[in-house]
Amino acid sequence: MDKIVFARIAWHPRYDGKYPLPYTAAYWTEKPDAEFAEWLNFKAVRGKCYGWVKPSSSWTADLKNLEAGSETESIEGVTVIWVARDPNGGSKIVGWYENATMFSNLKDRPKPLKFSYLFVAHSKDCVLLEESQRTFRIEKNFRNLWYAKDETSFKEKVIEFLAEGGSDLFIDPVETDFSDIEGKRKLVNHLRVERSSKLVRKFKESLQDFKCTVCDFDFEKQYGDIGRHFIEAHHIKPVSSYKSDGITSIKDLAAVCSNCHRMLHRNVPQPSVNDLIQTIKKRKK
Ligand SMILES: [Zn+2]
Ligand SMILES: [Zn+2]
Repeated sequence: MDKIVFARIAWHPRYDGKYPLPYTAAYWTEKPDAEFAEWLNFKAVRGKCYGWVKPSSSWTADLKNLEAGSETESIEGVTVIWVARDPNGGSKIVGWYENATMFSNLKDRPKPLKFSYLFVAHSKDCVLLEESQRTFRIEKNFRNLWYAKDETSFKEKVIEFLAEGGSDLFIDPVETDFSDIEGKRKLVNHLRVERSSKLVRKFKESLQDFKCTVCDFDFEKQYGDIGRHFIEAHHIKPVSSYKSDGITSIKDLAAVCSNCHRMLHRNVPQPSVNDLIQTIKKRKK
């Protein structure tokens, strides 16, 4: 099982050091001079994020919890799950670092960051969820750090959530009926790209509006606030030609509503976005 540690911090929309101040315990901080080190946990400096958490009441972390018998001052390859109390109730996963280095003692962050850190990771391995994506509840009431020892099935669920990129999409096994293993493998890679939260976030930022490219459906218009900025990303290269699980440009993604997305995946070979637009047009005649 991966080296995995849960770290409790205060809630913040972006952890970028910008207002509002983090929400801690049970109130939004109002002290104008109050600052929290975790406020900067996703503020990348020269390609890295420096994560703060209070390691324990004695201010050190026992790395033996991750690697039995470890006498070193740091451990690499750690998955850090950031957990915070939602102002609307419940503790949730707010983001994570993959492939992080964890230290037994707090270190000083590089300038211009302030305060200290316990974890460091490449920013490409750091995923911060938007507030609406923070759907994974953590019932365990822990302080500082928690290693979830012996909770294998719980940790598997967390890893699954991470693999889906914390996406609010769901994997439906009947999505496309591939008969061969190779086809299934390609579909899984395709869906992983569409559900990569970093890519989808960049994609959403590039959009002028959140309407479906195929049918013009607008989630906010239909559902109000709850549908605001909701749209799915569809990878326009057909699944069958999909090769690597490598980097995809946002140019390869199309914004589609959930209905059109399902229709695009229903048949092999997969229709193009344009095919589906034409199909709808013809039927309306
Ligand atoms: Zn649509
Ligand atoms: Zn798709």
